[in-house]
Amino acid sequence: MTTQHRIVVIGAGYAGLTAARALARKTRDASITVVDGRGEFIQRVRLHQAAAGQDVKRLDLRKSLGRKGIEFIQARITAVDPAEKIIALDGEWTLHYDTLVYALGSQADRTSVPGVAEHARFVATVEDVAELSGQIVVVGAGATGIELAAELAQAQPNSDITLLGANEPGGWLSAKAHQAIHARLTALGVRIVSGAKVIEVRADSIKLDDGTLIPAATTVWTTGFTVPDLARRAGLAVDADGRIRTDDTLRSISHPDIYAVGDAALMLGPNDRPLRMACATAIPSAQYAAKAIAARARGKNVAPMKSPYVAQCISLGRGNAVLQLVNADDSPKKTVLTGRVGGWAKELIVLGTAWTVGLY
Ligand SMILES: Cc1cc2nc3c(=O)[nH]c(=O)nc-3n(C[C@H](O)[C@H](O)[C@H](O)COP(=O)(O)OP(=O)(O)OC[C@H]3O[C@@H](n4cnc5c(N)ncnc54)[C@H](O)[C@@H]3O)c2cc1C
Repeated sequence: MTTQHRIVVIGAGYAGLTAARALARKTRDASITVVDGRGEFIQRVRLHQAAAGQDVKRLDLRKSLGRKGIEFIQARITAVDPAEKIIALDGEWTLHYDTLVYALGSQADRTSVPGVAEHARFVATVEDVAELSGQIVVVGAGATGIELAAELAQAQPNSDITLLGANEPGGWLSAKAHQAIHARLTALGVRIVSGAKVIEVRADSIKLDDGTLIPAATTVWTTGFTVPDLARRAGLAVDADGRIRTDDTLRSISHPDIYAVGDAALMLGPNDRPLRMACATAIPSAQYAAKAIAARARGKNVAPMKSPYVAQCISLGRGNAVLQLVNADDSPKKTVLTGRVGGWAKELIVLGTAWTVGLY
């Protein structure tokens, strides 16, 4: 019989890998196992580059984690039983845990508007991504939509790219950042349609709520992410979207031996505002959770997680980006880096995230 404390991390995205690697450094007398359906990690924050035909580096999870003394199991997690503390892999109840780190991330929202699942393309996960070209309408003028439209327009100047959304691209940032995004997209030849509400996606067009039909040979849907329903099925306390409700130390409020990190977790920041689904949240939340698990194992008290936010950074094709400094509540400060300097800053940040998960 083993006396080792068994820590199981489910999901090997930014959050799961960061947590596992930090736990390997910080804990003694604990076994760490990571489970993911994929055998390779691919940087999600570069998937718009993959859609524009660029190569994106991959990481062999078994080799990379093995070097840190972490066991890796490639399997689909099909259920969690928090009462018995056991996980079903590919339908078999096989993996026991003492502490579970839940990091199953998110996927594209395919169901909120009719026709999306049947006719749209996505860039939310590696399985979604295929190279895009031709006449394309990117729906959703949030960070992912902006990054994708700019990347496609730069890589394929002969493509016809429209960015369509309810709001102005970058309208939530400072005026300077907003203007820089607008100017760069326009210079790249992206047509911007704002104030548009899509009510249906068809094979060759998009229907708006005022009845307008917008021709679209290819529609790419980037309006937001949803999370797997595994946590809800397991009986964990979740919000309306299925994200695990956490306390201020990232433990499930219903099952405190489960920590939830990254996109799959509902983490509250300043003024109880949910932290956004972002790599900029996933990595610091996972670092924090690892520290909290290690501290509790040594019988120490754990201080609440602080807001991780310093900046929002949006790429605008290769070699160009907007880096907006933000307050702890994620609201924009005055300082903004744009153009080539913004591009360098963004590339350094993305390289930093890759380094954190072991890609370099
Ligand atoms: C194109 C694009 C650009 C982006 N750019 C930025 C950016 O510039 N800055 C930023 O902060 N954020 C960005 N994001 C968001 C960022 O990628 C996510 O917020 C981040 O990946 C969340 O990390 P995570 O570890 O929580 O989840 P994920 O990265 O989604 O990882 C979850 C892991 O869980 C595994 N998994 C899920 N379900 C199962 C299951 N049932 N069984 C086994 N394994 C499972 C998956 O295979 C995956 O490896 C971008 C996203 C996209 C799509």
